[in-house]
Amino acid sequence: MELDGASSSFGKIAAASPETLGLLMLKTDRYAVRLDDRTQLAAVSDALVDGAATARSLQERFPGLGPREIARELQVPVIVADDDPLVGSIWRFAEYRSRPLRIVLYARGIAPLERALVDDLAKQFLGRATAQDVFIAHELYHHAEAARSALPIARRHQVTLLQLGRWQWRTGIAMLAEIAAGSFSQTLLDLPCHPKALDYVTRLPP
Ligand SMILES: [Zn+2]
Repeated sequence: MELDGASSSFGKIAAASPETLGLLMLKTDRYAVRLDDRTQLAAVSDALVDGAATARSLQERFPGLGPREIARELQVPVIVADDDPLVGSIWRFAEYRSRPLRIVLYARGIAPLERALVDDLAKQFLGRATAQDVFIAHELYHHAEAARSALPIARRHQVTLLQLGRWQWRTGIAMLAEIAAGSFSQTLLDLPCHPKALDYVTRLPP
């Protein structure tokens, strides 16, 4: 499915599968583009499965709790910052920090999305969740990943950058953690679509 271009309707975007949106994300990773199509799809599937499984295990541990309450149970403070969301070319919605441990929500970063996501559009993209829920959940995945002993999803699929005889320089794929975090949010909050779709709801500056 082609999602770029002004003709894309919101309905089409909201109906895009997590695999389609995950692949779109992976295509923006500077290293992942070196993987062949089949490997890219396998990596996206792994990330989606890992995010969903991580959400389900937290749901079992904390039945009925939303992301804000789960963060509280895990003793991860959720801080709302009024900082400029724009740093260089990066528009910040939220951030996970391990030292000191916290999830930072950038209120001014999320505000344009909150303004755009009303009525039917909110239902289509968020179901019963709020935009803040989505970002807290996303960062909770990063916390869960940092707290467990399993190999991080970003390092499970590696790209060889350089090979000299038996010596190889390899790197992981950071975008896989973002794809997994989106899948985590989607499962935890029962969202109608992978939250990558939110990128298409509003054109953020610049
Ligand atoms: Zn993230």
